[in-house]
Order: sequence, then structure tokens, then C-alpha cells
Amino acid sequence: GGFIPPIKSNGGNVGNVTSRIGGKCEDALDDSTKRCLDMLCGPDGELPEKLRNLEPRLIEHVSNEIMDRDPNVRWDDIAGLDHAKKCVTEMVIWPLLRPDIFKGCRSPGKGLLLFGPPGTGKTMIGKAIAGEAKATFFYISASSLTSKWIGEGEKLVRALFGVACCRQPAVIFVDEIDSLLSQRKSEGEHESSRRLKTQFLIEMEGFDSGSEQILLIGATNRPQELDEAARRRLTKRLYIPLPSSEARAWIIRNLLDKDGLLKLSKEEIETICNLTEGYSGSDMKNLVKDASMGPLREALRQGIEITKLEKEDMRPVTLQDFENALQEVRPSVSLNELGTYDEWNKQFGSLS
Ligand code: ADP
Repeated sequence: GGFIPPIKSNGGNVGNVTSRIGGKCEDALDDSTKRCLDMLCGPDGELPEKLRNLEPRLIEHVSNEIMDRDPNVRWDDIAGLDHAKKCVTEMVIWPLLRPDIFKGCRSPGKGLLLFGPPGTGKTMIGKAIAGEAKATFFYISASSLTSKWIGEGEKLVRALFGVACCRQPAVIFVDEIDSLLSQRKSEGEHESSRRLKTQFLIEMEGFDSGSEQILLIGATNRPQELDEAARRRLTKRLYIPLPSSEARAWIIRNLLDKDGLLKLSKEEIETICNLTEGYSGSDMKNLVKDASMGPLREALRQGIEITKLEKEDMRPVTLQDFENALQEVRPSVSLNELGTYDEWNKQFGSLS
């Protein structure tokens, strides 16, 4: 079900917003921006303190592009990763559902790091957390702050945390967090990227101590680039590894079954699993996609026109389709990289 924010909406009334944005440029705002500010107003019809000095267009961007009203991922959609799911349930979901119990000694960390190879379900976990904890989900890629929002990243970060504050409980998911909190001093590191990093750490500090129900999740494929300050704030660090053989089987079955295409025997699925050692979850998805094209291509080769093609003209997906697809879809993670994750996990990961 969708999350309904406990915030008063003024309905169609997009009247005078002068007082809310400190008397600045209120006439220049278009209706969509006004509506967006209206949604964030408290019961008194005022914009919360935190948002008053922020540019309306940035608030609007956060509300429309970064905030995801319906993350739409459940635990059951995620293959494997039982350990991560258990940790996350205990340290994140329960505290968000029962803040009254999780205080004092039990008060949870407000920062979680998910690290591991790309395409293993880190983003899915973030979305599932928001869904299970009935929290608002915010997704931002840290590299977009430095590339797309040049010079404005700092302001956008303030708007992000400001809006999240008004939408509690909230989960802020920062993808590629290494590009924001990296220890590497790039050649003549830009003043602006240093300021961005500082701003981000300040915002994190701000809700870390308070009673805010905001969780920050950072995701990275390069944990070794995070500096000490970043590690200190991301107190729980979970390794999200490549899927096990069972998890790969689950992904194949789940995707084919959804489309009613699952006709493979248990043994055939096992064979595919043995041939896909080292494939990520996302590689598996691409493999299934490619394999499921096999029957279609064959029907077309036999001369049936695409416009006249009926579902019944296509045979089921076979092991041979997968064997062909394996030639096209190669694993995207190298063995070398895996060693790095293991080492970092031993040194800094939450192994419990
Ligand atoms: P990451 O954030 O780790 O780079 P994502 O969570 O974005 O990876 O996963 C990309 C896609 O790969 C997902 O949308 C899903 O289709 C598939 N996938 C990855 N990991 C899993 C998994 N553990 N279970 C099911 N599907 C997965």
C-alpha cells in the first residue's frame, strides 16, 4: 500500500506563499511549485523552519524526483541475502516501527553502509526497508551531486535532508556514496566538492544525535575509498555479496514463472546455476531476458511474421536457450574485485 504522509494538504488552494519563503520571489513560482510547498506545510499552514530558507525549485526537485512515493519492493522479491535481511530487520525496521522501544541503550545507529559488487540488490534492500518500515524513500546518486548539480550540490543536500525531516520516518538512500565521502584527495580537489562533503557530514550529524526517524543508507562498490569520518558515521556495514547458487536458481525461477515461461526441470536449472558462478543478480536478470528471446527468434526464423505471431507459436524456454545466452551475457564482476570486498569486510564489516 502507498504511504500516506501525515501532513495536511490545502487541496486546490495554492494561494499566497509569501510568508513561507521569506517574502522572496513568490509571484515567480508556478503552480506546481506552490502545490509542492503546500504539501510540506504543517497544520498551521506554515512551511517548517528547516525549509524556509531553501530555494523552492530545489524543494520541488527533491519532492518530485528524489522522493519515491512507492518503492514497490518487498523482502520476498530479493533472492538470498538472508544474513543482510536479518540484520537490517533488527537494526533498522524494528526501530523505525517502534521508536518508543528503541531508545537509550537500544537506540539504533542512523547510518548503514551496504557494500559489494554492482548489481547484487543493494538498491532493492534500500527500497524494501522503506516499504517494510512504512517510511518515505529518497534515492539520490552521489555522483549526480557532483556532475549534474555542479555548484548547487550543497543546497540540494540541504533541501534533501530538510524535506526528509518533514516526511519522517524517512530512508535516504545515497548510491555511490564513495564519490561523495571519498578519502582520495583528487588532484587539487575542488573547493566545491570539499564543501559538499562537509555539508553532507553536518546534515548527518544533525539527525544522528536527535530523535529524528531518519535513516541514511549509503551504497558503494568501492568501500575502500571511504575515509575514516565516513566509516564512523556509517556504523553498521553490511557486505552484500554475489548471489549463491540457490539464489541464482531462485532468480531464474522467479523471473520465468512471472511470465508463465517456466518449463525447465530442476536438473536443468541446476545446470544453469553451475554455469553461472560469479554472475551478479543483475547479470542473472539479463541472462534470463536474453534466453527468453530464444523461442521468439526461432519462430521468426521459421518465417512467422512478428505482427502475426501468436503466443502459441513459441516453444518454451529451454536449457539450450540459456546456453546460447551465456555466450552473450558475461559476468560483470571480476574475481580480483571480490578479494578486495572480502578483505574490507574482515577489517570494517559488521560480521555479526
Ligand atoms: P545494486 O544496487 O547492488 O547495484 P540493484 O539492487 O539495483 O543492485 O539490482 C539491480 C537489478 O538486479 C534488480 O533490479 C534486480 O532485477 C536484479 N537483482 C540484483 N540482486 C538481486 C537479488 N538479490 N534478488 C533478486 N534480484 C536481484
